[in-house]
Amino acid sequence: MNNLGTDVIVVGAGPTGLTLANELALADVDVVVLERLPERTGLSKALNLQPRTAEMLELRGLLDGVEERSFTTVRDGHFAMIPVVYDGWDTRFPFQLGIPQAKVEEFLEEQLAAQGTKVLRGSEVLTFVQDKDSVSVRYRTDSGEAQLYAKFLVGCDGARSVVRKGLGVDFPGVDGEGFGVVADVLFDKAPDAAQKQWRTMRNIGEPTGATTFKGLIPLGEPGLYRFIYGDRASRPADMRSGISHDEVRTALLDSYGDTATVSEIRWASRFSDTARQAAHYRDGRVLLAGDAAHIHFPAGGQGLNLGVQDAMNLGWKLAATVRGWADDDLLDTYEAERHPVGAQVLHNVAAQLGLTPRSHESRALRALFGDLAALPEVNRYLSGMVSGLGIRYPTYGTAHPALGARLNDQHVLTETGPLRPSTLFRTGDFVLLTTTAAHTDAARSQATRLTTQLVADLPWPSTEAVLYRPDGYACWVAPTPTR
Ligand SMILES: Cc1cc2nc3c(=O)[nH]c(=O)nc-3n(C[C@H](O)[C@H](O)[C@H](O)COP(=O)(O)OP(=O)(O)OC[C@H]3O[C@@H](n4cnc5c(N)ncnc54)[C@H](O)[C@@H]3O)c2cc1C
Repeated sequence: MNNLGTDVIVVGAGPTGLTLANELALADVDVVVLERLPERTGLSKALNLQPRTAEMLELRGLLDGVEERSFTTVRDGHFAMIPVVYDGWDTRFPFQLGIPQAKVEEFLEEQLAAQGTKVLRGSEVLTFVQDKDSVSVRYRTDSGEAQLYAKFLVGCDGARSVVRKGLGVDFPGVDGEGFGVVADVLFDKAPDAAQKQWRTMRNIGEPTGATTFKGLIPLGEPGLYRFIYGDRASRPADMRSGISHDEVRTALLDSYGDTATVSEIRWASRFSDTARQAAHYRDGRVLLAGDAAHIHFPAGGQGLNLGVQDAMNLGWKLAATVRGWADDDLLDTYEAERHPVGAQVLHNVAAQLGLTPRSHESRALRALFGDLAALPEVNRYLSGMVSGLGIRYPTYGTAHPALGARLNDQHVLTETGPLRPSTLFRTGDFVLLTTTAAHTDAARSQATRLTTQLVADLPWPSTEAVLYRPDGYACWVAPTPTR
């Protein structure tokens, strides 16, 4: 293949694109990130990292850096504003990290720069053309239009994705009827009802009427809160119109009365309850990830997390394909694994919206659902769904309980003492945990880049070895031979 500018072009430096670019750079893949905006917006947007996202960042040794930038830990999540805890899951991180999206992006971009890859800002992708060997991308910069070739193109360019539209892939779903607003408000005097610290989802937000809702989340800085409000049943004629500070002040007054005094409204944005998912995540050499592939109402705090987890799934597969370590089929497993996960998120968001107390009957349903959610098994099911902890990929069958399941990162005993298996994933290689060196060759036939660790035992009966993919899901096991 001649005249290729790079291996992979990633469009968009949001959390999805930056995670993907980091994964590709880690595998020595040449990657260019094209970002339309000349500089980061600094807008807080999403506020949470779910436990499964924390586990994945820990695999790469990135969690400490994210924690340093976070402002709180929240001991539960929620489903339709009904709190759910993570106690039923074997995880080291049974909490949400409270961190503004802007801080996550800043950190990921710094990591990328440390790997020698810069985001090309002020570069807006206009069109692309693919053939059997390459993709050619045309983009606009301050100094005019430019063109770049690559082996693969990944659209991480958000809800209005130019890449998705360019592919012409279907984007089926439902148009929303309502709207929500988020505003970061600095109070001189916060509403009496406001919590001082964000430690739980309890009493953070609530329905205020048949279709309306409100919430106040303390953001770690004295007096600073995320104010959320909206209506599920009506919306402004122009959803893209800006929001005046007067509108936010009026909504605050309606929601919390006149006991509060506002010092400053830092930013405000409207969001929609439209839900759509791309019919396909791959067409030849072009792929979609994050909001470019799926959009939904931000119920449960899932969107950013879903995008980061898409990127962790795609990164090592795309790297292996570009480096010639994998058959083309491997790349197809990205859509096969992640499309159902995205569909499931849209499904659970619709179910959460279905619990809006619109009528006498739905109020009764919501109350009953709240009782059910308190049952440990139901609670575990719901928290596994919104956090990503419940994901298990059926790609490898279900004959063994480890297959397709995530690494839970409990200590394993090695000849030098106890070890956290997550520390073996820093280089982005496959990891073999085995009680005998005899399995190393067999594992190597499945994984070109392999880290092997001898352990005293494994947490599954009659199992001598488990092979994990770079994103921490088990893909091969060696049962103990029967004598
Ligand atoms: C109000 C609100 C609250 C939310 N709260 C949460 C929450 O609490 N938890 C959660 O998990 N999620 C939440 N989300 C969802 C979360 O913000 C998104 O899912 C997340 O931003 C998706 O990341 P992304 O990288 O896929 O896309 P984006 O963040 O949209 O990034 C796309 C990037 O691509 C760039 N781009 C676009 N077009 C082009 C082009 N043609 N050329 C070059 N660059 C381009 C954009 O400038 C942007 O930087 C919330 C969303 C909203 C709206």
